[in-house]
Amino acid sequence: MSALSLESSYITLDELARCHDLDLQAVNKIAATYPFRLTRHYFNLIREKGDPLWLQAVPDSSELLHDQQLADPLNENGLSPVPGLIHRYPDRVVWLVSGSCAVYCRFCMRKRGVGCSGAMVTDMAASLAYIRENREIRDVILSGGDPLMLGDDQLEETLSALRAIPHVEIIRIGTRVPVTLPERITERLCTMLRRYHPLYVNTHFNHPDEICAASSNACAMLADAGVQLGNQTVLLKGVNDDPAVIASLFRKLLQIRVKPYYLHQMDLVKGTSHFRTPVARGLEIMASLRGNVSGLAVPYYVIDLPEGKGKVPLLPGHLVNPDGTLTLTTYKGEKVVYMDL
Ligand SMILES: *Cc1c(COP(=O)(O)O)cnc(C)c1O
Ligand code: SF4
Repeated sequence: MSALSLESSYITLDELARCHDLDLQAVNKIAATYPFRLTRHYFNLIREKGDPLWLQAVPDSSELLHDQQLADPLNENGLSPVPGLIHRYPDRVVWLVSGSCAVYCRFCMRKRGVGCSGAMVTDMAASLAYIRENREIRDVILSGGDPLMLGDDQLEETLSALRAIPHVEIIRIGTRVPVTLPERITERLCTMLRRYHPLYVNTHFNHPDEICAASSNACAMLADAGVQLGNQTVLLKGVNDDPAVIASLFRKLLQIRVKPYYLHQMDLVKGTSHFRTPVARGLEIMASLRGNVSGLAVPYYVIDLPEGKGKVPLLPGHLVNPDGTLTLTTYKGEKVVYMDL
């Protein structure tokens, strides 16, 4: 099945404008710079104009504000020895195997190229050759765009080529399809995937309203196929920058067998500044989780540093004192001096 061929899965801007009284001309102008795509599934989860799901999917004029940010602040292009293959850490690479997604998230950190023709397309043969030649690469993360927008056959070709490389220990797939186009997770796909273990899928739920019967079922099918499921959430203003929303999201994820892995501070990407929250807010949310929800529900809160310096986890309330002791803050807010002997 090619996910791309399912035109009936998508809703057009015209349809959206008709349902919700949108300025079609203004929205078209934004979409000319940053493409628009929305699945019927995700559209049906929107409760009202301006709600957290709407904000993630519908173009907003703030995207075109001159916000001083770079299109590629993490210098992913500069860290790509082959176009579409980002080699930042010694033992792992991110491989951009697809340039398209089921929904074009307005906050996307790869807005610079995702959904744009010609951009974000890797050279498959050259990338494979690079991975083959660089034996320190143990972990290959398929990303994009969304790797599950590839048809089953093309995806299988990629997985089997990677599995033929002895030093590649694990393969990860980063995908938002379980959230945005859950019908893409078919029995056929799962039967294929289970031939390529160990396989990890990191999906991308940002709000509890995204967890519905269909997305739960998609995750159950992947989990039943032996896939380890994690989740990456981006902290987004007006969407999920609220302790109760985040706690609900992470508890619900565990119920659908998905382990919260990262909570991302938003990258400083051009065209996304209207979603940015202060780090203090993220720390406050993390502090509210500790002790109050299952430890399994608590991800790492990370900043991906500019220029590709890597992800750094942030912990609330931990200070190293001049004498080498640590002042730790318990989940109740009590400060405890810990002797690091
Ligand atoms: C996030 C990321 C990884 C994976 O990091 P983990 O902490 O292992 O999940 C690898 N390479 C790049 C370029 C990344 O951005
Ligand atoms: S699914 Fe991921 S890559 Fe695609 S638009 Fe959304 S955030 Fe960007």
